[in-house]
Amino acid sequence: MTKHSSVIIEDIEFILDVKAIKNLYIRVKKDGKAYVSVPKRLPQTQIQMTLLSHLPWVKAQLAKLSSLSIKPELEYQSGEIHCLWGKSYPLLLETDHKKAEAFMRDDQMILQSNGDLTLEQKVKLLDNLYRMEIQKIMPTLILQWEETMQVQSSEWRLKKMKTRWGTCNTRAKRIWLNTELAKYPLECLEYVLVHELVHLLERSHNHRFKAFMTTFLPDWPVRRKLLNSLAMKMY
Ligand SMILES: [Zn+2]
Repeated sequence: MTKHSSVIIEDIEFILDVKAIKNLYIRVKKDGKAYVSVPKRLPQTQIQMTLLSHLPWVKAQLAKLSSLSIKPELEYQSGEIHCLWGKSYPLLLETDHKKAEAFMRDDQMILQSNGDLTLEQKVKLLDNLYRMEIQKIMPTLILQWEETMQVQSSEWRLKKMKTRWGTCNTRAKRIWLNTELAKYPLECLEYVLVHELVHLLERSHNHRFKAFMTTFLPDWPVRRKLLNSLAMKMY
């Protein structure tokens, strides 16, 4: 086998890259191909078998990527629908204000500015609105859950993230939540928060971790499904 080669299984192209690594690793990219890092000296039959066993996962990833890409591009114009806590609101641009800010008013999402804004500026203002919305509810929510779960985080922070809903630095006991969570029903953010807090009790996603989840939030699988399905359709 040359350093780069490819294998096609059920119409899916796997690009193989042999490396000095221990475990085979598959990544699915937007170009519709699966990129595989293959450990040196792994037998060809073993590679084929591993790829076959990962086929359902690869297909699911490809389906996810293609459903993401059919979302129309947002333009941030007046009348365009945006979401907050799982509800839809029309955007209203007001360009005759000194201060640039985004906020909710009478079931509308207001984007105020002094003159026209670039797309980037509008995105930033809305991100800020989402951040503030989460900041409003988090202090109470986290206290409530820390008490229920008998855990203690050192701090929580918000960040717009592309690939994760939240993370937990278990050593520093610091929780990060994705500001995008403000778009979905509150049950979804709550699910992510509980998930990250459970990491203070159990670092890996093992049996024990799931048992904690079920104890504290019995309907967590439903909430996870809701979040992931909404994230494919909503903004
Ligand atoms: Zn986790």
